[in-house]
This record gives sequence, structure tokens and C-alpha cells, in this order.
Amino acid sequence: MDGAPDDAAVEIARARTVIEQVEAAIARIEQGTYGKCESCGQDIDEAVLDVDPLARSCRCHQAAGLA
Ligand SMILES: [Zn+2]
Repeated sequence: MDGAPDDAAVEIARARTVIEQVEAAIARIEQGTYGKCESCGQDIDEAVLDVDPLARSCRCHQAAGLA
């Protein structure tokens, strides 16, 4: 079988999540808070943003599971 319906549903759900994350990032750019940790307000490491441009938390808060 090529592509069970369940697989397609999973792919669509994944794509929706990405779209939501991109929209959230755009909203943060508009608010001027892009690149700042949502938990502590500190600038997120450029290395973190390089790996994940949609990162919402600094390294320590991602490690704390609040990303
Ligand atoms: Zn933080």
C-alpha cells in the first residue's frame, strides 16, 4: 500500500503544527519579542536559533522542558 490514510493524517497534523509554530514566530517578530525566551525574556542563543529558528525558550528553559 502506498500511503495509508493514517499516515496522511499524521503528516497533515505535523504540517499544521509547523504552520502554527511559524505563525507564532511571525507574531513574535511583529511584537518585537522574537529571539527572546518566553520564560525569562533573555535573548536566545544564536546557536539555538541556528538549529531551531522557531525556538521560544533559551537553552536552560528548553532543558527544563518549557520549550
Ligand atoms: Zn529562559
